[in-house]
Amino acid sequence: MQPAPARSTSPPASAFRIPFNRPAPIGQELEYVAQAVASGKLATDGEFCRRATDLLRERLGTPGVLLMSSCTNALEIAVLLAGIGPGDEVILPSYTFVSTANAVVRAGGTPVFVDVRRDTINLDEERVAAAIGPRTRAILPVHYAGVGCAMHELSSLARARGLRLIEDAAHAIDARYDGRPLGTLGDFGTFSFHETKNVVAGEGGALVVADLGLMPRAEVLRNKGTDRARFERREVDRYTWVGPGSSCGPSELQAAFLCAQLEGMTQITARRRELFQRYLTALQPLADAGLIRLPVIPVQCQPNAHVFYLIARNREERVALQSSLHARGIQASTHYVPLHDSPFGKVIGRTPFPLPVTEEVAACLLRLPLYHALTDEQADEVAAAVLAFFGR
Ligand SMILES: *Cc1c(COP(=O)(O)O)cnc(C)c1O
Repeated sequence: MQPAPARSTSPPASAFRIPFNRPAPIGQELEYVAQAVASGKLATDGEFCRRATDLLRERLGTPGVLLMSSCTNALEIAVLLAGIGPGDEVILPSYTFVSTANAVVRAGGTPVFVDVRRDTINLDEERVAAAIGPRTRAILPVHYAGVGCAMHELSSLARARGLRLIEDAAHAIDARYDGRPLGTLGDFGTFSFHETKNVVAGEGGALVVADLGLMPRAEVLRNKGTDRARFERREVDRYTWVGPGSSCGPSELQAAFLCAQLEGMTQITARRRELFQRYLTALQPLADAGLIRLPVIPVQCQPNAHVFYLIARNREERVALQSSLHARGIQASTHYVPLHDSPFGKVIGRTPFPLPVTEEVAACLLRLPLYHALTDEQADEVAAAVLAFFGR
């Protein structure tokens, strides 16, 4: 007899008529990749890395941008630049991806898990204030679904208590808060271009550094501990080992794909917003009847429609709804398993208060298919299948 798998695996996206996600070129991705190949330069920091970095600087309105091979390594560098080390605590949500907490752990710090708000599923600023202690060094909010956290409140808290503010903006490319791009409001911001995000490069990321005085150290951490970036700017005549570091630059193949995605970013966001609005309108009657809860967008937020989710009344209903959609060939997806309750999170983290909202959301949240190539007809079919499940 086969042993039971440690984790149940779900069918691949190709098993569904309407998959949950489908990363696809929207413009000149394939031409650019071909140009990168033809150029004979495939490692990091060639022409396409430069172009993608310039596009990001322009779109984000800030010069302190470094292209990375993932948001995971952007987070790791941000935490090091923030000066986090052994004995230091960083406050973050439990309802996030492992990389948010792993960055703190790899620097020797302790993640302190606090609850999220019931309306936005974002870090609850009142819980953050209550969790700040003598060892707290930084706050690490995650802009869930591309909807901004309460950045005014978190920024004033950080300022008043002398803490660093690191934004995990993995979901939030092209999303804004009071008109300003998310990822550029704190001391550091990190983006992801993983295939599941809005703007994709297969794998990829970016780091935003507000204090340009930290850029040389950021470059060394990114470039294997060398001052190669200074060498390429002709500031030194050879490059050498100057500190600790890792290999965090994306290849030119990734950067080429990313350039075309960044050129089409406005279109991507606009199309996703249309689809998001379509779901919202179609499913509003279920929310009005108290059968589900739908995303809440605070007035300060201009989100990028990264995730469309609904929250069922209980776990059983969410499981039944997901099975009913799968039976119709529609792939729907749950989201994070709370970190405070994971095998490693229990050992390595600190959880000062109960996290009832995190636990409710983890049990009841379901994400619907949302990607640039999804058609209106497909979105309508998905919404109709949800309505049908509730007998509407
Ligand atoms: C996707 C994601 C990451 C990690 O991004 P990678 O680019 O895959 O390393 C980190 N944090 C959050 C909240 C994410 O959703």
